[in-house]
Amino acid sequence: MDPFILKDKEYFHLPDWVRKSPDLAVGFTTKNGGLSQGKLDSLNMGFHVNDRTNNVCENRQIVAQKLGFPTDHWVGAEQTHEVNIKTISSTDKGKGGNDYESAFSRTDGFITFERGILLTLCYADCVPIYFLHPQSKAIGVAHAGWKGTVGGIAQKMIQNFQFYGIHPSEILVAIGPSICENCYIVDDYVINLVQNRLEGVESKPYKEVSPNQYALNLKECNKEILISAGVLRENILVTQLCTSCSKDYFYSHRRDQGSTGRMISFIGWKEANF
Ligand SMILES: [Zn+2]
Repeated sequence: MDPFILKDKEYFHLPDWVRKSPDLAVGFTTKNGGLSQGKLDSLNMGFHVNDRTNNVCENRQIVAQKLGFPTDHWVGAEQTHEVNIKTISSTDKGKGGNDYESAFSRTDGFITFERGILLTLCYADCVPIYFLHPQSKAIGVAHAGWKGTVGGIAQKMIQNFQFYGIHPSEILVAIGPSICENCYIVDDYVINLVQNRLEGVESKPYKEVSPNQYALNLKECNKEILISAGVLRENILVTQLCTSCSKDYFYSHRRDQGSTGRMISFIGWKEANF
């Protein structure tokens, strides 16, 4: 069974982690159940894709209510496909939750140890990577398109946890809905960077489909990077859900030719009184 299960029409969740940690909200939104129109029909969560700000705010309220996590407890980012990671504390609550201006600039990964904060990042094909260290309650999430992947954001997240004294072998990781290899054809330029990042890794997460054209499995690529960084293979869950194949559930930047909405990944500890 896939680790990501549709919980409500608005989102998938991760039952394996929620079973172990019932006060954890973790999942990935769909494109359904919101107010946005046209190409953004209908649960667009991105402020930066020419939607009406009111629609995005209303869509976020819909998700906030479903999760029991108010938007003034969310944090969000201006994502730039780099490998900058921020550690979030309670004074950051609400930044990027209700507007784009207060979001963290140039940030593609979040970590927190605190309750009552929902870490969110936006996607339309890129890979969401979730992190959980049950012992310390440290959580994190990262955004890895091909640039973030070959830049090593997955490894950098693990290094950040290590900085806080957390051993990689104790970290649970989940890789969420994102583009599959059949839908993601890239050229030599990208594959060379993938090869550099995966130096010493035996299995290659791509195959040549025509001259200078390769089907790249970004989920597997990140999985191998995580294993190289010390995460145990058995601690990594990987969904089969593809944002491009699953037109009924997701926006896809590639499929929709650049003009589309955004889903969010989310992870946060609910406060005791929820
Ligand atoms: Zn696909």
